[in-house]
Amino acid sequence: MFIDARQIDSKTGLMADLCIIGAGAAGITLASELNQAGFSTILLEAGGTEYDDETQAVYEGVTSSNVLPSNYLSASRLRFFGGTTNHWGGHSVVMNSNIFRARPGVPGLEWPIKAEDLRPYYKRAAELLGMRKPVSDRWEPETQSGLLPIERYPAGEEEMRLGPFFFDQIKRSDVRVLLNASVTAINPNPNGKRIDGVRVQTLAGNSFSVRARSFVLAAGAIENARLLLLPTHINKAGIGNDHDLVGRNFSDHLYGQGRLLETRPPWRSKGEAFYTLTPELQDKYAIPELGILRLDENAKTKPGDAIMSAIATLADGGHEPHMANLIFYVETMGAPENRVSLSPKRDPFGNPRSELRFNFTSEMRETYTASTELFARISGQHGIGRVQLSEEPLGGANHHMNTTRMSDDPTRGVVDSNGRVHGVSNLFAAGSSVFPSNGCGNPTFPLIALTARLADHLSAAFRHGDFDG
Ligand SMILES: Cc1cc2nc3c(=O)[nH]c(=O)nc-3n(C[C@H](O)[C@H](O)[C@H](O)COP(=O)(O)OP(=O)(O)OC[C@H]3O[C@@H](n4cnc5c(N)ncnc54)[C@H](O)[C@@H]3O)c2cc1C
Repeated sequence: MFIDARQIDSKTGLMADLCIIGAGAAGITLASELNQAGFSTILLEAGGTEYDDETQAVYEGVTSSNVLPSNYLSASRLRFFGGTTNHWGGHSVVMNSNIFRARPGVPGLEWPIKAEDLRPYYKRAAELLGMRKPVSDRWEPETQSGLLPIERYPAGEEEMRLGPFFFDQIKRSDVRVLLNASVTAINPNPNGKRIDGVRVQTLAGNSFSVRARSFVLAAGAIENARLLLLPTHINKAGIGNDHDLVGRNFSDHLYGQGRLLETRPPWRSKGEAFYTLTPELQDKYAIPELGILRLDENAKTKPGDAIMSAIATLADGGHEPHMANLIFYVETMGAPENRVSLSPKRDPFGNPRSELRFNFTSEMRETYTASTELFARISGQHGIGRVQLSEEPLGGANHHMNTTRMSDDPTRGVVDSNGRVHGVSNLFAAGSSVFPSNGCGNPTFPLIALTARLADHLSAAFRHGDFDG
């Protein structure tokens, strides 16, 4: 059921088993799963069911970056029911099993869980989203070519916007969705080891509190960090921030462009295809993952293409070549100085706005060049085609990640392998903020799978009484 928080008076104290902060991909998934498991759930959503300028403006902040636009904080997120999935592309891919291990190209960024731990939850995620079987990529280079297809699901249709998609189901359910309800403080108990409640404010001016046995931050990777960083009466550095890790290592995938002159018939098929370099190649050259999205459309020709095309035709037995567009998604390695922190500027609730620093470092530039050039070389060697590269990434992919990374070691991560904030018994984080590393694939499908795993963990913990007393 949906409740307008602007109608709730300040004396009201609401109570549930679980309180979720944020109704985007992660929050809606978790609410729907916990409700089915029979636990009372309150879902606090800062916006209404439609976009509005005043609410969206709460997301404004300060961005300092050599690659992201200055309006990134407000333009790359949406603050209403369904969250940023209200304008996502719907591209849904499985996280490559390769990225869960220790890798020379991204040292220190192994996951505390295994790829197999997530496997059953992709099926759940696909069921939740009403998706059919994974796509089988029709662009099939030989396996020896050094490329591996990335497992992916069909891109979403218009109705895949998760707000409208889940609206009726959530409305009919027992989940209490409080709209226009911004969480503006998380209140720990006197020793800081447990969360007693959260403070909710609306732009209409009223405020109230919500108590629960357990709380989950599902407000997106930037807002999850901002909410944890807000000073409390226990700790000026915020919650879960004893090791100054909250907000650090913020990442987005960087994307670049290229063109592929496909020279042999097997590579010249219709349809998109998404590939990465094999783990062997990544290890040999100590590079992170490179996603290679081959688009169906015939790329625009440029001066010089006719000569290149003629040479290719001769070289490849007289077949007429086809020019395809390429998009590269580059995994960015953690850089602690790339971070979300609190700005001196204030939001309408009196809280510090987010400040985001994200620079494309010289190390990232080197790996971008090394991995795209490697792809170009092997394409030539294996007769896939001739590749033209853009020299620099063109920008971010709007994939916010890594601000509350997962590690069982509290000196290396903000949350443990179940998503629980270190040092706090009943506070969890969901979403791509908990990814230790990024791979090269779109983050939402894996974050939904990871959230379904968290739902199982929370259900078991509620049954065992882990949050009581
Ligand atoms: C243009 C664009 C295209 C994209 N395309 C793709 C794609 O094709 N594939 C893909 O995998 N990903 C894509 N993404 C990324 C995708 O949208 C995000 O990964 C996904 O939405 C993250 O889900 P989330 O639930 O963690 O956060 P969000 O979807 O951002 O949801 C967070 C929710 O929390 C609410 N909230 C925030 N703060 C508070 C607060 N203080 N109190 C209460 N509620 C709060 C917000 O209103 C929002 O509803 C795209 C993003 C953009 C911008």
